[in-house]
Amino acid sequence: MIAYDLQCINGHSFEGWFEDIKAYEEQKKNGLIACPICDSTSIARLPSTFAIKSSASLKDFSNHQEDLADISQKIVDFVEKNFDDVGSDFTKEALKMHYGVSDPRNIRGVSTKEEEKTLKEEGVQFVKIPMPIVPDTDA
Ligand SMILES: [Zn+2]
Repeated sequence: MIAYDLQCINGHSFEGWFEDIKAYEEQKKNGLIACPICDSTSIARLPSTFAIKSSASLKDFSNHQEDLADISQKIVDFVEKNFDDVGSDFTKEALKMHYGVSDPRNIRGVSTKEEEKTLKEEGVQFVKIPMPIVPDTDA
């Protein structure tokens, strides 16, 4: 699984999880990725810091990406095995645990930038795993 920072045509940013870049591209092409805020299916991936900073040739770049993807895959595997996937209920579940409504456990899921702000304001500890962004082939 890969997490991508996505943005809709109306400027809402959110995170999406995909099996791989092909799954992302296919879902995007078929209009299956919708903004959780406004439901727009005009979605673009936000450029990664890594991509912006890289001055290496595209060939070097893709080699680096493979190394990073390897490491990230290990982290993702660990998270997938040890964390309950609560999907878009992440913020709700995290807040429930924070206030002792439900028992603490490891959870993973997706959150919007707004929800992340809420979590920070409420003092909820959460970790975002940085994922390598493979260059867009249709960009
Ligand atoms: Zn939107």
